[in-house]
Amino acid sequence: MHHQPQRDLLLGRTILVTGATDGIGREAALTYTRFSAKVVLTGRDSEKLRQTEAAIIAEGGQVSGSFLFDLTSATPERCLEFARQIEQVTPLLDGVLHNAGVLGDVAPMVEQTAQTWQHVMDINVNATFFLTQALLPLLLRSDAGSLVFTSSSVGRQGRANWGAYAVSKFATEGMMQVLADEYKHTSLRVNCINPGGTRTKMRASAFPQEDPNKLKTPADLMPLYLWLMGDDSRRKTGMSFDAQPNRKPGIAE
Ligand code: NDP
Repeated sequence: MHHQPQRDLLLGRTILVTGATDGIGREAALTYTRFSAKVVLTGRDSEKLRQTEAAIIAEGGQVSGSFLFDLTSATPERCLEFARQIEQVTPLLDGVLHNAGVLGDVAPMVEQTAQTWQHVMDINVNATFFLTQALLPLLLRSDAGSLVFTSSSVGRQGRANWGAYAVSKFATEGMMQVLADEYKHTSLRVNCINPGGTRTKMRASAFPQEDPNKLKTPADLMPLYLWLMGDDSRRKTGMSFDAQPNRKPGIAE
C-alpha cells in the first residue's frame, strides 16, 4: 500500500494492541507510537511486554499502560475487569488492534485434536469477542474509533490442513462484518487486516522449511496498519484489507 503519513498522524490518539510482545503486534505498537499515538500494550509474557515497552520509551514514544493478560484466561468477567483497569489509564480508546493469535496444528481435519481446536477457538475467537464487548464502550467515546481484527487468507477461502486456525479466521471475518453493520451509523469503524505471509515465529512454525528471507517483515506491512488507525480510513467499515495485496497465498517460492 502506498501511504505516506505525517509523523503526527495519530497525535492525541490512544490505541490498544493485543499480542504486543512479538511479531506483527510488537511492530504495530512501535509504529503507532512513532506516528505520535499513545499505546496500551497487552501480552502474556511479562519480560517480553517489558521489552516492548522499553523499546517504545527508548524511541521517545508514549505507553499509557502495559497489561499482562493471558488470553487463555479471558472470560467475559475478566475482560470487563481488564476494561476497568484500562479506564484507569485512559478515558477512551481511539483504536483497538486485535492481533494476538495462535496457529494450532497444521494437520487434516480428521487429525485436529479437540484440545487444540478448543484452544485456538478460545484465543482467536472467544477471547477476541469477550474483549471486544468489554472495550466497545471505551471505543465509542472516541470521535473516530477504529476496531481492527486480524484475519488470514485461509479465513476467506478454506484450505486443506489449516483446520481450527482457518475456521477461527472465518469467524473473525464474520465478527467484523456483524459489528460493522451494527455500528455503521456511529463514529466507530470495524475492519479486518489479512497480513499475508510475514516473517514471524507463527509463520516459521507453520512453514518450518520456508526461507524467511523471502517473506515481508512486519515493518513492511505497517502502511496499512497505520492507515486503518488514521483519519484517511474514517469512512471505511465492514471491509477486509490485504496488507500484501499482490501476494498469492501459500509458501514463498
Ligand atoms: P506471533 O506468534 O509472532 O505473535 C503472536 C502474538 O500473540 C504474540 O505477541 C503472542 O504472545 C500473542 N499471544 C499468543 N497467545 C496468546 C495468549 N494466550 N494470550 C495473550 N497473547 C497471546 O504471530 P504473528 O505476529 O505472525 O501473528 C499476528 C497475527 O497475524 C495473528 O492473529 C495471526 O493469526 C495473523 N497472521 C499472521 C500471518 C503471518 O504470516 N505471520 C499471516 C496471516 C495472519 P507471545 O509473545 O507470548 O508468544
